[in-house]
Amino acid sequence: MFENLSDKLDRAFKVLKGQGSITEINVAETMKEIRKALLDADVNYKTAKTFTDDVRTKALGENVLTSISPGQLLTKLMNDELTALMGGTTAELDLKPSPTIILIAGLNGAGKTTFTGKLANYLKTQKGKKPLLVADDIYRPAAITQLQVLGEQVGIPVYANPESKDPIAIAREGIAQAKQNGNNVVIIDTAGRLSIDEAMMVEIEQVKAAVNPHEILFVVDAMTGQDAVNTAKVFNDRLDFTGVVLTKLDGDTRGGAALSIKSVVNKPIKFIGTGEKMEALDVFHPDRMASRILGMGDVVSLVERAQQQFDEKEAAELQKKIRKNKFDFNDFYSQIQQIKKMGNMKDLMGMIPGVGKMMKDVEVSDDAFKGIEAIIQSMTPKEKENPDLINPSRRNRIAKGSGTDLQEVNRLMKQFEDMRKVMKQMSNPAAMANMMRRMP
Ligand code: GDP
Repeated sequence: MFENLSDKLDRAFKVLKGQGSITEINVAETMKEIRKALLDADVNYKTAKTFTDDVRTKALGENVLTSISPGQLLTKLMNDELTALMGGTTAELDLKPSPTIILIAGLNGAGKTTFTGKLANYLKTQKGKKPLLVADDIYRPAAITQLQVLGEQVGIPVYANPESKDPIAIAREGIAQAKQNGNNVVIIDTAGRLSIDEAMMVEIEQVKAAVNPHEILFVVDAMTGQDAVNTAKVFNDRLDFTGVVLTKLDGDTRGGAALSIKSVVNKPIKFIGTGEKMEALDVFHPDRMASRILGMGDVVSLVERAQQQFDEKEAAELQKKIRKNKFDFNDFYSQIQQIKKMGNMKDLMGMIPGVGKMMKDVEVSDDAFKGIEAIIQSMTPKEKENPDLINPSRRNRIAKGSGTDLQEVNRLMKQFEDMRKVMKQMSNPAAMANMMRRMP
């Protein structure tokens, strides 16, 4: 599902992944790639444009926390925005009324009848409901048989009246039977057409007016991309449905319909069909779908943890120091403490996509910072504030005091100097621009 889109987004992110900071230039370039990826996935043009404009504004407005790379920050932003794009929160069915009347609408071949069976099965097994199915397609005798076969398969009764040519009457009879038999959900499978058709619309409008359904679910084939979105719009204008069911997401759909429908018709996706079997139905969770599209482990939680730990005021202070090239060992030490507060190292690494699996059998010690901490603690306050003071004889003393050796102290000093150099460049716009120009 969505592999192509995931791959392309991943490539788009690469522009930012190697960068030290977020700038107008690298964000613009990344957004261009992301927009291309979305359009390739058959996302509606306006949706793709609004989406990338929003992400760009947020990316540029974001305080770049020292512990988060621009790539990670963008992942978090994209995840939030994709989730919002697909409706934000999970939209549940309203099952309080008894019986709850659910009308199923859509074109022929979309997967209406299959979904009707799946929904009944879901409501019975997951929600403890007692549904009744109503076969309300008077044009195709095969449709009635198909629903009866599915009903039998999942152990759910089906009301049908093959003699009748009156869909309104059939729907009413079905509801009456449900009330009589104590069924607390009635799912009405209506007739579709091959394409949008005035007679079909009028018929389903009449059924709606007669039975006053609590839910009207519009079923659409995700493989049809933008057509799915256009059809949804026409149906919604006439029926004002309560939710969308996207079927055939198990195929190699490009994902455009899932991403555009909410923003075009402003109705939530409630379920997705992921196969022909009766169990192949999932409640649609926008946040999980976003993670899936982004191919993430749990970077979202990782970034959230970092955001919880890093106080904005402190981050601003730190940035000021970096700009003045005053980042010292005290700051370095407190950064380590903050990273440690984020949690167990192995746990943290497990949140990085792909790394969790790789690190499964590797022992990661929480003492990873112990040597560095000991070295910093063995420095005098003056040395911590002014690392340039630390000459070879002081290094010897620090090594002895910290129970490490000269090599380790030298290594830390070198890493610290390298870090300061990068920070200095990052805080100097001219040097940064120069560096960017030299990039391939
Ligand atoms: P209807 O005309 O709208 O009632 O559509 P059907 O329920 O008869 O489905 C049309 C075809 O799509 C059937 O062959 C179904 O097995 C298939 N189908 C329905 N939902 C899914 C799904 O989620 N995944 C896949 N792969 N096939 C599906």
